[in-house]
Amino acid sequence: MHELGITRNIVAIAADAAKGRRVLRVTLDVGRLAGVMTEAIQFCFETVAAGTALDGAQLDINEITGRAKCQACGSVYDTPTLFTACVCGSRACERLSGEELKIRSIELEEAA
Ligand SMILES: [Zn+2]
Repeated sequence: MHELGITRNIVAIAADAAKGRRVLRVTLDVGRLAGVMTEAIQFCFETVAAGTALDGAQLDINEITGRAKCQACGSVYDTPTLFTACVCGSRACERLSGEELKIRSIELEEAA
């Protein structure tokens, strides 16, 4: 499963960034067009996090709606799929959001 690899990467990056401190919460930005199942990431997270700096941490997933800018008429519109055309009929667009998959923030335990 592709989401297991993604979850392992997220945990590895967050654990590295924590530099020995405990991670309490990780927030991800996941575009609805990124091609990943957020439920699967949630499902894997606890198991992958066990025994790392993220053991017991909360995972929040912020889903980002797909948006694009039409190159024909300049309007900005929501794209529920990668193939959604503009109302003017053009499919030539610049992707603005919806394909991201990144860590937005990491909340660490206060240093004692
Ligand atoms: Zn257009």
